[in-house]
Amino acid sequence: MAYQFYESEETQLLRQAVRAFAAKEIAPQAFALDRDEQFSVPLTRKMGELGLFGMIVPREAHGQGLDYLSFIVAVEELARVDGSQAATIAAHNSLGVAPLFYYGSPAQREQWLPRLCNGEHLWAFGLTEAGSGSDARSNRTTARYDSKSKQWIINGSKLWITNGAAENTLGITVQAVTGRAEGKPQLTCFLVPVDSPGLRRVAMKDKMMWRASNTGELYFDNVRVADRERLGEVGQGFKIMMETLDNGRLSISAMGLGLAKGALALALDYAKQRQAFGVPIIDHQAIAFKLADMATRIEAAENLLYKACWLRQEGKPFQKLAAMAKLYCSEVAEFAAREGQQIFGGYGLMKEYPIERFYRDAALLRIGEGTSEIQRIVISRYLRR
Ligand SMILES: Cc1cc2nc3c(=O)[nH]c(=O)nc-3n(C[C@H](O)[C@H](O)[C@H](O)COP(=O)(O)OP(=O)(O)OC[C@H]3O[C@@H](n4cnc5c(N)ncnc54)[C@H](O)[C@@H]3O)c2cc1C
Repeated sequence: MAYQFYESEETQLLRQAVRAFAAKEIAPQAFALDRDEQFSVPLTRKMGELGLFGMIVPREAHGQGLDYLSFIVAVEELARVDGSQAATIAAHNSLGVAPLFYYGSPAQREQWLPRLCNGEHLWAFGLTEAGSGSDARSNRTTARYDSKSKQWIINGSKLWITNGAAENTLGITVQAVTGRAEGKPQLTCFLVPVDSPGLRRVAMKDKMMWRASNTGELYFDNVRVADRERLGEVGQGFKIMMETLDNGRLSISAMGLGLAKGALALALDYAKQRQAFGVPIIDHQAIAFKLADMATRIEAAENLLYKACWLRQEGKPFQKLAAMAKLYCSEVAEFAAREGQQIFGGYGLMKEYPIERFYRDAALLRIGEGTSEIQRIVISRYLRR
């Protein structure tokens, strides 16, 4: 079927509901949560009550039963107002719940999904370590099998894990080295509940951006998990993690698109009311052109992202477009935040103006879930094929 974009009535209603929620519940708190670097459990629960947990999981598996575009639209609408809350929802759904749903055994799904879809609890994705980010194959965390107890014993640490140290997090999917195969590290994923003895979680502080999102450091000291908590087969870990990131790229693109749309809305309002030389600054062509460039790039970013979602929904290869969308939406977000800030003049440098937070939050988008350099590597590999 040729590409045809269509936002269903259900998706439009969801967009309206999330937009109204973000304006009423998130906007009034975003400044203080960012200033105090505070992750809010009550606000996270409210997002859960709205139906933003387990969005793409079918109803029969305890989820909300929505299509992928609806999830993307919800993340976009949150990011229009606050990157931190969007990060909590994007990471929980695409990095936390999705691998459990796609690769979990029936018993694992039944054990975890009901509590991860009802708005109460989060699940995190533990891939990055202090010594291995982009090069995630070189993870050092190990899991050794103890055949007597039929348990895996995990040792090592993880860094930068979104939702990893939140008090309402139930567990983490962790990639660990379980041996060597064909001269390479054999990587396997495990579902590690946060109350496992030997697991220590520390919230990372002093971030420049996403300050109200929880980012955790995790330390594993002889953490034992039963073999039934292994996610997928032994040696399948890297494939699970990389396929999860292909989907994750769509939601981080949505964060970029939403941030850019939010920056444009703020800048447009300001440009209409701020006067300079006797006229609103929007009447100065230099300012009007900035707004025109922002709107044009946003339109292009939206089309790229929604087409990638459409391909995914149609069951067609979407990975190349997901990498392109992630790369482009993050660049458009940074452009829109910077130009928006310029339109605000000196006020754009003051924390009380949300455009200042948007400018900081945009920086993460070219780093998280694969840097812009890594996206270019992925795209160029597809071109070479
Ligand atoms: C706020 C935040 C939240 C995060 N959440 C999570 C999470 O939930 N789970 C998780 O597992 N991780 C998470 N991460 C980690 C994130 O995915 C990594 O930071 C990212 O993949 C980059 O890894 P790195 O920081 O180690 O940089 P490095 O890999 O050390 O890269 C440093 C620089 O070198 C460049 N580079 C590296 N290799 C190449 C190459 N082959 N060619 C060209 N350039 C290269 C990179 O692009 C970058 O510019 C998070 C990070 C942040 C900041």
